[in-house]
Amino acid sequence: MFPSQFDYHRPSSVAEAIQFLQNDPDAKILAGGHSLIPAMKLRLAVPSALVDLSQVDGLRGIAVNGDIRIGAMTTYAQLRDSDALKAAMPLLSEVANNVGDPQVQSRGTLGGSLAHADPAADFTAVVLALGGSVKAVGTGGEREISADDLFVDLFTTSLNPDEVITEVTIPNPAARTGMAYQKRGHPASGYAVVGVAVSVTVGDDGNVSDARIAVTGCTPKATRATAAEQALVGKPLNEASIDAAAKAAPEGLDINGDHYASAEYRAHLVEVDTRRALEAAAKAL
Ligand SMILES: Cc1cc2nc3c(=O)[nH]c(=O)nc-3n(C[C@H](O)[C@H](O)[C@H](O)COP(=O)(O)OP(=O)(O)OC[C@H]3O[C@@H](n4cnc5c(N)ncnc54)[C@H](O)[C@@H]3O)c2cc1C
Repeated sequence: MFPSQFDYHRPSSVAEAIQFLQNDPDAKILAGGHSLIPAMKLRLAVPSALVDLSQVDGLRGIAVNGDIRIGAMTTYAQLRDSDALKAAMPLLSEVANNVGDPQVQSRGTLGGSLAHADPAADFTAVVLALGGSVKAVGTGGEREISADDLFVDLFTTSLNPDEVITEVTIPNPAARTGMAYQKRGHPASGYAVVGVAVSVTVGDDGNVSDARIAVTGCTPKATRATAAEQALVGKPLNEASIDAAAKAAPEGLDINGDHYASAEYRAHLVEVDTRRALEAAAKAL
């Protein structure tokens, strides 16, 4: 199918982009287009205009200086290939390398992925588990939104319609933090049937001082598996605590089923992938 008619704007600054969005409430930002354009072709999205960020200065790049700051228009391919990122936080490059296929990696952007809030996206869960945040700029000024507050529901974020994500921040992890992501990709698209991202910190007393575990692919939005987190904190990170956390992981989650994988099967995968992700994180400490 063809999209319905739309206007096309190509601003050269964030301020100009915001102006276009303010002038037309039905306009939409275009980043890599790998989610928006298919939705437009299916007429699931019918924007009156596209505001293409591709020529806006300063929205691409990776800065590692304690915290990691990534421009919203940075593509998965740039994350995948960045030597600085591979050295500072290789998990981010590895996750990017497993998004879709090389074409998707060449066009898709980190900012687009977080703004789209696809329930089966990878980086939503990864950024949530790593305690990340986005910088959003709009007519009301600039604000930082933590990933905990960004994902509201299926394809729904707390961004205002005139807000542009300009940057994603991943905080510098505390000493003795292990992180990992386990995904069951759909064989056709690579989207997560279930994905589990974990970040676990072990304190000076040898016990887990902080645990963040986020799931994707199985819930309406990337969601913290809080029962699993609680099963770890205050315990040594060992086979027993990992087993308890894995078994607790599906508790309280609104797990969906579809023709490809039932809710029961996805709940089982949440347990298995939480265990595997925690084992990998423990090895990475
Ligand atoms: C075949 C295929 C396989 C895929 N497999 C995977 C996969 O395995 N894992 C995965 O995570 N994803 C996958 N994707 C999705 C892909 O990662 C998308 O590119 C991504 O989700 C959206 O990023 P984008 O840059 O293409 O955004 P676009 O499609 O351009 O935009 C998506 C939405 O976000 C909004 N938006 C974009 N940028 C901003 C911004 N800076 N500020 C505010 N709003 C913004 C747009 O207005 C739009 O509503 C796949 C896509 C395809 C086509």
